[in-house]
Amino acid sequence: MLGAIIGDMVGSTYEFHPIKTKKFNIFNPNSHMTDDSYLTMAVARALLKHYPIQYNEEGIKAIKRELINEFVNTWRCFRTAGYGYMFYQWCERAYVTRDVGPYYSFGNGGAMRISPVGWIANNEGEVKMLSKAVTEITHNHPEALKAAEAVAMCIYLARNGYSKGQLKKRMVDEYYPEIAFYNFDKLVETCTFSSKSQDSVPQAIYCFLISDSEEDAIRNAVALGADSDTQACIAGSIAEAFYQRDKLSEFEDKYLYLMIDPEVEQLIKELHDKIGSEKFNKENNNE
Ligand SMILES: [Mg+2]
Repeated sequence: MLGAIIGDMVGSTYEFHPIKTKKFNIFNPNSHMTDDSYLTMAVARALLKHYPIQYNEEGIKAIKRELINEFVNTWRCFRTAGYGYMFYQWCERAYVTRDVGPYYSFGNGGAMRISPVGWIANNEGEVKMLSKAVTEITHNHPEALKAAEAVAMCIYLARNGYSKGQLKKRMVDEYYPEIAFYNFDKLVETCTFSSKSQDSVPQAIYCFLISDSEEDAIRNAVALGADSDTQACIAGSIAEAFYQRDKLSEFEDKYLYLMIDPEVEQLIKELHDKIGSEKFNKENNNE
């Protein structure tokens, strides 16, 4: 989740001013949280309120109700965070009547907010069930559901010790065969802005697969020069689970200190605390 927020913030200044290079100031003072971060936090809050999750019809229904409340509250508090037009309209309707249906979006909005699911679910079945529940309240198109599940699954598998090779195989076999044929330089050359899941999520996963650190994954995603905040958010979210499951990196620590508001840090810590994660354990971070 921290990786998602850092990625979103790093990418925020490049979303509409794409750069095609990995060389840029990653601690840009103009960086800010966008909808990707705010909605990731909304998902985290909703899931933590219902933790431990009841993976049955009633439990899932309660989570969905909570999510609608959290999304509407987030929209009311941060109206200029950069939501997609359809999400904005959905919030307007949901504010009037909480009994609001999804809008069949195949946008990458489902995948950008999904990272807490990858941390909270305890097996692959739970990843799938929870990812579907969180995503389908707005993004019930098969491409958006697939994208969110792919990202959540990647995070879950990464934090359970899967190697890059294993992760790549799972992604290629079960979600995005095209990843097998990607080439980074070619992507940098050809990528343009698209918020469609199918045009942005597999590329973001690939940016993680070819990285050597969380920071590197985020730089890769920004260098695509496409949907920078969302692709960096997704790449960062997976990279965090892979590289920094049990320990803050120097980069994360510095980013937290310099760029991230205390209440955001608090929520991230609460998630790790609830799931029994070692990441913010002082002993792990005092070497
Ligand atoms: Mg955004």
